[in-house]
Amino acid sequence: MKIISISGLDGSGKSTQIQLYKKYLEDTGKKVFYFHAVNFSIATILNKKKKRNSDGKTADVTRASWTTIQLRKIALFIDMIHFRLLTHKLHNDTYDYLLTDRYFYDMIVNIAYLSKKPYTPFFTSLILTPDFKFFLDVDPHIIMQRKNPPKQGLDYLMKKNTLFHACAHTYALTIIDGNRSQEEIFTHIHALSS
Ligand code: ADP
Repeated sequence: MKIISISGLDGSGKSTQIQLYKKYLEDTGKKVFYFHAVNFSIATILNKKKKRNSDGKTADVTRASWTTIQLRKIALFIDMIHFRLLTHKLHNDTYDYLLTDRYFYDMIVNIAYLSKKPYTPFFTSLILTPDFKFFLDVDPHIIMQRKNPPKQGLDYLMKKNTLFHACAHTYALTIIDGNRSQEEIFTHIHALSS
């Protein structure tokens, strides 16, 4: 089973590309598992229970205490073990592809952002390295001009963008220019990963 991950800023077009890729693979008869790293995270599941806005939606987390950050790291460790077990199961279930919308790289960037510290890698050896690991690199200003831009705003995106670039360098992510049309980006990702 091949694992393909797409990382990047909120609103950079990850889900769009994953859906295009999933459709393409399924149309060619492949068995595909869609994985969303944030929804899978034990930290997200626990947070959803307690952090609801008055409209019932999950609150966006942009600040966290030291204790919360340590708990996030423990949660990430558990997620990495859990993910390995999931991949074994999918392999046994004869899946051809696991497409992952965000990955542990994104979770590490999120923790770095919340810590307000320069990006430092951790649990590196525990991360199951995908066969193809893409970073969809989009100018935050362009993201803010798209439909439904992230509520956290430009400053948030700029800070996270810096962290993402450091992360992409550490983990040798393949940088994809995301400042293009959906079709152009998909063609590029497809050409690199097939
Ligand atoms: P993410 O999963 O990274 O948060 P989405 O795939 O949900 O991002 O895309 C965020 C928004 O940007 C959506 O409204 C989507 O239609 C739009 N979008 C995605 N890719 C592009 C693109 N290449 N050019 C312009 N708009 C895009």
